[in-house]
Amino acid sequence: MECTETDCASTATVRLHVPWADDRVVCAAHARVLARRDGVVADPIADDDEWP
Ligand SMILES: [Zn+2]
Repeated sequence: MECTETDCASTATVRLHVPWADDRVVCAAHARVLARRDGVVADPIADDDEWP
């Protein structure tokens, strides 16, 4: 699964719950940026192999 952000081909490792838009899956780097916005919840994708 790839990050859904434009022009990003990194593997998505986090699901973001966005109050004003649909949920999206993003890479760790984008999750760090996007999760700073009010109301956004970052939820690690538990079954991803990159997570211990
Ligand atoms: Zn990304």
